[in-house]
Amino acid sequence: MSMEKKGGSLLWKIGLGFSCGIVFGFAVGPMVPVTPILGNYVMPFLDIVGRIFLTLLRMIIVPLVFTSIVVGAASIGDPKKLGRIGVKTLALYLSTTAAAIVIGLALANLIRPGLGMNIAGATAAPLAGKPLLEVLIDIFPPNPFDSMVRANMLQIIVFALFFGVAATLAGEKGKRIVGAFDSVAETMYSMTFMIMNLAPYGVFALIAMTAARHGPAILAPFIKVIFAVYFGCFLHAVIVYSGMISLYCKRSPIWYFKGIREAMLTAFVTRASAATLPVTIANTRKNLGVSEGVSSFVLPLGATINMDGTALYQGVCAMFVAQAFGIDMPLSAQVGIVVTATLASIGTAGVPGGGLIMLTMVLTSAGLPIEGIGLVAGIDAVLDAARTCINVTGDTAVAAVVAVSEGETLA
Ligand code: ASP
Repeated sequence: MSMEKKGGSLLWKIGLGFSCGIVFGFAVGPMVPVTPILGNYVMPFLDIVGRIFLTLLRMIIVPLVFTSIVVGAASIGDPKKLGRIGVKTLALYLSTTAAAIVIGLALANLIRPGLGMNIAGATAAPLAGKPLLEVLIDIFPPNPFDSMVRANMLQIIVFALFFGVAATLAGEKGKRIVGAFDSVAETMYSMTFMIMNLAPYGVFALIAMTAARHGPAILAPFIKVIFAVYFGCFLHAVIVYSGMISLYCKRSPIWYFKGIREAMLTAFVTRASAATLPVTIANTRKNLGVSEGVSSFVLPLGATINMDGTALYQGVCAMFVAQAFGIDMPLSAQVGIVVTATLASIGTAGVPGGGLIMLTMVLTSAGLPIEGIGLVAGIDAVLDAARTCINVTGDTAVAAVVAVSEGETLA
C-alpha cells in the first residue's frame, strides 16, 4: 500500500473528518452539560477514539526512531561524515528557530494583542529550571533500555548513533544486525500507513472534543494572539522554508509543501511532533527524495529539539503577557527572549501542550508574571495546532537542505 497512491483520497477523508468534527463539536458543545447521553456516552466515546488514535501513533515511535537512526548512522558509515551532517543540522535548526522568534516578536510588537487588558497585581516568579550542565549530562543514557521504556528521545538518539557507528566498525558481523534493524524500520513504516487509515476517525474525534470544549465564543478575546501566531507561522513557512527550498535546493516551494502535506496535517491535528514523526519520515523520504541516511538522522533529532513554531509562539505569548500586565519590554529584554525561547523550544517535548509548560521558563527568565500562563492556557490547543505544524515543517526543510548539501538529488 503506497502513501502516494492512497495519499490523495486519504487526505480528503482526513479533511472531511476535520471539518465534520469542528461543526459537530461547536453544535453539541453547549448541549453536553444538559444532555446526559452526550456527556455520558458520546463525548467519552470520542475521547476514547481520539486517544486510541494518538496512542497508536505513539506506539510506533520508539522502535521506529531507534532502528531507523541505527540504520541511518550505519549507512552514513564514516563517523567524520556523521559529524559533519550533525554540525550542519544543528546550525540550521538553531538559526531557523531564532528567525521564527524574531518574526513572532515583530508581529507581537505590531499587533499588540495584550494592549488594554490591564491585568495587574501579579509578581514575577523566581527563576526555575534545570541547570544547563545537567541537561547536557542527561542526554547520555545510563541504561538504554530504561531510556526506551521512558521514551526519552534524546537518550535513544545518542545510543542509536553509537550503535550505528559501532556496527559499521564491527564489519561483517555488524552488517547483519543493521540489516535486521532495517527490516524492523521498514515494518514500522508500513505500520504507519495502516494506522493512518484510521486518521479520518481519530481526527474527527480529537477536533470534535476540542471544538465542543472551547466553542467559538471563547476564541473571541484572544483572536489577536491566535492571529499573530497563525500569521507568524505562515510568514515563517513562506519566507524561511520556501527561501531554503527555492534558493538553496532550487526546487519549487509548491512541490515541497505538497510533498509534506500529510505530515503537516497530521501535526496540525495530533499537536504532537513526536507522534507525527513516522509520517514526517515517510513524506520526506518518499516525496522529497531525501536519503534514508540523512532523513533518519535529521528528522528524529528535529522532532525532539527543533521547534520553530513553539519558539515563535513563546515570543508572541511573552509579549502578550507583558502587554496584558502593562510591563514594558525594551529591545534588550526582547533579545533575551530570543535566547531563552530558543533554549525552551529545544527542551520542549514534542507532545500536545509541551510548549505551554516551557513558556513558564521563558516568562520567568524575562521577569514576566507566571500568571500569564493562565491567560494563554485556554486557547493553547488552538495555538498548539499551528505551532506543531510549523515544528514538523521545519524539520523537513532542514532535512532537504542537508541532503542537497551532501550532494543528494531531491525527488
Ligand atoms: N505540541 C508541540 C509539538 O509537539 C510542542 C508544543 O507544545 O509547542 O511539537
